[in-house]
Amino acid sequence: VPEIILEQPVPREFQPEIVKNLYWLDGGIESFAFDATDGRRLSFGYRKAAVPEHLPLRVKQSAERLARSLRAIPSKTLFELKPANAGCAAPYDQLVQRGWVRPAAHGTHVYRGLFLDLFLALDAQFRQAALRLEAEEYKFPAIIPMETLARAGYLNSFPHNANFVCHLPEQAEAVERFKDRMKSSSPEGATLSLDGFCTHSATALSPTVCYHFYQTHAGQTLPADALLTATALSPCYRYEGKAMRGLRRLREFTMREIIFLGEPTLVQKRREALISLQRELLERCQLHSAIRTASDPFFLDDYDKKRVFQMSFDLKHEVQAWLPEEQEWLAIGSVNHHQDHFGKVFGITLPEGMPAQSCCLGFGLDRWCMTIFAQHGFDPNCWPEGVRVILDAHRRHTAALKTAA
Ligand code: AMP
Ligand code: ZN
Repeated sequence: VPEIILEQPVPREFQPEIVKNLYWLDGGIESFAFDATDGRRLSFGYRKAAVPEHLPLRVKQSAERLARSLRAIPSKTLFELKPANAGCAAPYDQLVQRGWVRPAAHGTHVYRGLFLDLFLALDAQFRQAALRLEAEEYKFPAIIPMETLARAGYLNSFPHNANFVCHLPEQAEAVERFKDRMKSSSPEGATLSLDGFCTHSATALSPTVCYHFYQTHAGQTLPADALLTATALSPCYRYEGKAMRGLRRLREFTMREIIFLGEPTLVQKRREALISLQRELLERCQLHSAIRTASDPFFLDDYDKKRVFQMSFDLKHEVQAWLPEEQEWLAIGSVNHHQDHFGKVFGITLPEGMPAQSCCLGFGLDRWCMTIFAQHGFDPNCWPEGVRVILDAHRRHTAALKTAA
């Protein structure tokens, strides 16, 4: 197991973010481990016996560069809540044992039982909050045109996270050949059957919710003093490579977003309202949590540059929850101020010709639910009153549907 000695110790709170990025250096890397007591020592496991000669140095240089970038502009904490939650051991394993969460394709899960009840109950709250902000409801597709992703800047900033959608060529012979190959291979071999058949397509699985909204309004001039407000619950897809684990980092997750688009001062005001909303929900659920300035998961090569920009202007606020078992913070939501980025790239303008501004809030539902189990345990009767009220409202609603027939 190669071990690298870094020039400076990496603080524990930076380690997960650094490791997540380092996996992208080489697909043969299987695991990373920082020494528990000495943050300068980083070892990694490699799939094949022979580690490429240049790799340890690249790991060292990249880790140091990421650490420098994280140190350069520390995040600011706006809010911290520290209730004395007992926490529970191995929440993910317990959820799986109870059958409420079942791993499906790598990075995806089936939910039912109490986990799904809480998921739907929380979303009912988030939706209600959106409606109170006068949001119009939307239902967006899971698929998004590559053109929209390119326009949004996604394919420059996060190409490694993209999930491209492919299909068979529209050609009878090719379809027949594919069928023949399927007939002769076992179901376990089905993954191989795509080799040589996949036709490139101009679509991907949507990594986020709000791009659809900007695309819907592309090329429009908004009325004076406009503030468009929208909300939607959508599946989101991000390929997270080796960092995919349990419910903490998924390939498919579900996000509710609240989106504002329009006049700069109105958008700015709404952003403050979104941060207060997050805070209020954290208090209601009594989560050990914090709201901090943060940056997006940019790719290695331009991580530093883009992070500096986002951090300098306080453009991203992350809602982080504490995971007692892992002793780690996990982002369960974010509030993002895009300034006029999407207005510009999607050609959405204000009457005077200036590009519109936008901001959005995203609730990561999978992580919200996971955190409640991880911090409050598995007995809803012992959950904080705020969470019980949310769950009971949902259960009453479901019970009413059952008897309404
Ligand atoms: P972001 O747009 O990166 O700020 O993500 C918004 C929220 O979506 C995050 O705060 C998470 O709660 C959730 N999220 C993002 N990526 C993942 C993932 N890979 N797995 C689960 N939840 C995620
Ligand atoms: Zn968004």
